[in-house]
Amino acid sequence: MTSKDGYSWTKTQGLRAGVPSIGVIEPPSNVKSADTVYDVIVVGAGYCGLTAARDASLAGLKVLLLEARDRIGGRSWSSNIEGYPYEMGGTWVFWGQANVWREIARYGMQDELEISYDFSRGINKYLLSSPQGTQTFTHEEEDALMQSSLAKLVNVDGCLGKTVVPFPHSGVLTPEARKYDHMSVADRLAEIKNDLTPNERLCAESFVLLCSGGTLETTSFYEFLHWWALSGYSYEGCIDYLVKYKFRGGQSSFAINFFKEALASGNLTYAFNSPVATIQHGGNGVQITTRAGQTYKSTKMICAIPLNVLNDVTFDPPLAPGRKAAAATGHVNQCVKVHAEISDRDLRSFTGISYPHNGLIYGFGDGETPAGNTHVVAFGGQHNHFHPEENLEHTKAAFQGFAPMNIERLVFHNWSKDEFAKGAWFFPAPGLLSTHLKDMRARESNIVFACSDWALGWRSFIDGAIEEGTRAAITVRADFAGRAKL
Ligand code: FAD
Repeated sequence: MTSKDGYSWTKTQGLRAGVPSIGVIEPPSNVKSADTVYDVIVVGAGYCGLTAARDASLAGLKVLLLEARDRIGGRSWSSNIEGYPYEMGGTWVFWGQANVWREIARYGMQDELEISYDFSRGINKYLLSSPQGTQTFTHEEEDALMQSSLAKLVNVDGCLGKTVVPFPHSGVLTPEARKYDHMSVADRLAEIKNDLTPNERLCAESFVLLCSGGTLETTSFYEFLHWWALSGYSYEGCIDYLVKYKFRGGQSSFAINFFKEALASGNLTYAFNSPVATIQHGGNGVQITTRAGQTYKSTKMICAIPLNVLNDVTFDPPLAPGRKAAAATGHVNQCVKVHAEISDRDLRSFTGISYPHNGLIYGFGDGETPAGNTHVVAFGGQHNHFHPEENLEHTKAAFQGFAPMNIERLVFHNWSKDEFAKGAWFFPAPGLLSTHLKDMRARESNIVFACSDWALGWRSFIDGAIEEGTRAAITVRADFAGRAKL
């Protein structure tokens, strides 16, 4: 099936909107009666909503899952083109992420992971490009350079940040954590400007921008410390957790299991292509109206809509002021992720940074396609932001910023222009978490708000989405069981 989402370009086909994905659901709806009053309506079929809908339906609740798109997965989905999975959004998972690994084990997918890198051949090097030219390093030298730059960045306490974020899965921001949350990475770099070599500075800045998709000024230093802590306070940990292990069959091969299991319970009704426009809620339950005017009713609701688009839905009564303000501020991540299939086999083993002049900042060989070509994935963000489909020559030139390459195909999803995401993974500007993390997590009457964007641990990750979907389903089940609310 082909989703309306995503773009592909080849020399022969030109630019095409919409790419094939096994995450597209057919038929798009199995709603039988418009009069049913559901126990719970889940809005959003990303990993959070899928987990919540599955767990609630398996617990015997009558669930309706409403999704704006034609597919599952939200910000994590893959497109299979000519037998090769291109990851349009969320990609990498690791066994240290407890929620994600529980689900991988549940679906017996532990042997379906592969390593993105293959440091075995060709230009088996780290290419560090700046306006001054391109320097070449071995991957061992790359690791040493990245470790030393990031260690200097995070070492606010002589313990590599361990005393600032001692419990990375806690939602409590200590006074010290708040201090760093009000600081940007640009502020922190100013503090250590005399300690960094020019290369360390390039490495630290581009790695932070890879993580935040924002600018150095709009990246909360605390949240970077939080990622660092989750990754075991080391650069090696960052690689293991953030960019190493992915599904051989693509993310949609994982997400579809959640949907199928929920459906097999017999308790799941669903409707895709159903953007929600208004949500009325109160003592009597919840009434949800889609943009097409279809109305659905339930006792409880799980709202799994991302932060950056929450204010596009009308709530009656309106959202609590703290949540509304958080959504108005939003997160800053405008990541530009683009895949290129290139005929240069020698580039399978390269990693590279092209900064601060280039549109794409961080890229590397991510696989080999069935045609024997190399798959390169590259990331940009708010820094030098661009829309890949608007100027394909600019997009291709941004790949040449790493090394000369012969591009056969481009594949991408424009997350900035996506009306149901308005950005990529959550990354906060200074102050957002200190001011609003609690507000984002609070429930309002019969609505539980759940999303990776305000998870406690791997916030911004697939793991965080599953953490939140689990919490939401437990909360609603407790309501029905008359137990104390979580
Ligand atoms: P979403 O996936 O955004 O789901 C929300 C759903 O709500 C969407 O399906 C949306 O269509 C729907 N929706 C929105 N508005 C409405 C409406 N009005 N009516 C009905 N439905 C609506 N994470 C990792 O763990 N590893 C990675 O490597 C990684 N890389 C990433 C790369 C990119 C480019 C992106 C974008 C994300 C990446 N992430 C990664 C993050 C991860 O994808 C997300 O944190 C996670 O998928 C979010 O899940 P969610 O269910 O909380 O939200």
